[in-house]
Amino acid sequence: MAKCRRCGREAEYRVSYAKAWFCREHFIEYFEERVVEAVRKHRMIKPGDRVVVAVSGGKDSMSLLTVLVKQARELGIREVIGLHLNLGIDGFSEHVESVVREYCERLGVKCHVIHLRDLLGLSLPELASKVRRPPCSVCGLVKRYVFTVSTMAVNASVLVTGHHLDDVVKYALKNIYVGDYRSLTSLKPVSVEEGLPVKARPLISVGERDIETYAKLSGIPYVEAKCPFKHEGDAEKAVRVFISELEESNPGAKLTLLSSISKLIHEYIESRGSRGLTRCSICGMPSSSEVCGFCRLTKRVHGKYMGADVTSKIKESLNAS
Ligand code: SF4
Ligand code: ZN
Ligand code: ZN
Repeated sequence: MAKCRRCGREAEYRVSYAKAWFCREHFIEYFEERVVEAVRKHRMIKPGDRVVVAVSGGKDSMSLLTVLVKQARELGIREVIGLHLNLGIDGFSEHVESVVREYCERLGVKCHVIHLRDLLGLSLPELASKVRRPPCSVCGLVKRYVFTVSTMAVNASVLVTGHHLDDVVKYALKNIYVGDYRSLTSLKPVSVEEGLPVKARPLISVGERDIETYAKLSGIPYVEAKCPFKHEGDAEKAVRVFISELEESNPGAKLTLLSSISKLIHEYIESRGSRGLTRCSICGMPSSSEVCGFCRLTKRVHGKYMGADVTSKIKESLNAS
């Protein structure tokens, strides 16, 4: 019978990369310590920061919210704020919103909910079909914009998301596979750009299975149903299977890959220089081109650039809530 590494009692949960077993209590403790360590190691949060958590309702972001609320004092966080974007997906988004709202209330966290339909008059599926792009690519662009603007609108200095070890390693290997090295730079644990909130991924050193165990052991009421647009391409699936087999035969392989990817990103950025952001001439948000991707999207959909209008609507709605 395996024994808990910390107390010697009967253990039930194995963490492969730590090569250790834990009882329920010490699994939760170990998990939270890893998240706190990652925040400190990568200087994601400074004492006194107000931190916005982008909460989708799934196990990753709901677990991240939980850890930051529990460890707020340890990390010197002044306030943790939940932020949810309702995408208007029939039979899915309303339920997700209610789960997020109820959990934030239970934690005593302020919860801001923004409806995509209120911003652009369309749901995500309608928007994607108008621009004839895959829903996930439109969703990513919209979320990045809305979350960034919202974080600035509530005067928070940090925006955190629930991307974890498996996400980052999987996307990095997929990007290497297709030769898209530029996208690797978006996988950094923390990104700091002039005029923008710090964007960070505190779950970078914990695996998906451990997050699921943590959520279940902690009684976190996450939404198990996947978004109906979730789609895993063949290359992505092959990479996921490869990573999980590698981890199975070589415990700790994912962390080794993460460290190699970090070195690659570092060297790639150093050799190419940073992206050199400018300001969008329409909405004023930092952008890599004269007009930002969000403004260009709205022009295609409604025939006019709407970044500035959307920014004002978000500010109004957040100030009122
Ligand atoms: Fe958005 Fe795609 Fe995720 Fe659904 S699966 S929430 S459309 S990114
Ligand atoms: Zn124990
Ligand atoms: Zn713009």
